[in-house]
Amino acid sequence: MAKFRYCKVCDAPFEVKHPHSTKHYCSNKCKARASRKMRSIKEPLQRREPLRFEDRCAHCGNTYLSTRYGRLFCSNACRQAEYRARKRGQGNPILAEFVGHVKAGQY
Ligand SMILES: [Zn+2]
Ligand SMILES: [Zn+2]
Repeated sequence: MAKFRYCKVCDAPFEVKHPHSTKHYCSNKCKARASRKMRSIKEPLQRREPLRFEDRCAHCGNTYLSTRYGRLFCSNACRQAEYRARKRGQGNPILAEFVGHVKAGQY
């Protein structure tokens, strides 16, 4: 006995000849459309704009354009200067609040 299912793409009922069929689409056309739809859902995630936001350097206080979270300094020079200052115990006291968020050795 033939059974009917509803196409996942166009909602049209279609005949399922085998009771254990895993068909979800009325036609190959709809199947192709469904796979295109899947791709269009995935694409924006891969093509996301690079992360860019203004951040303030924890060493010199200048604002700079950061491209990732967890970054604290505008440049490697500031990162190294702050690292050396910390070793002497003269680091930026504001940095203390960041320390919990930053992995050891990152700066
Ligand atoms: Zn269809
Ligand atoms: Zn700086």
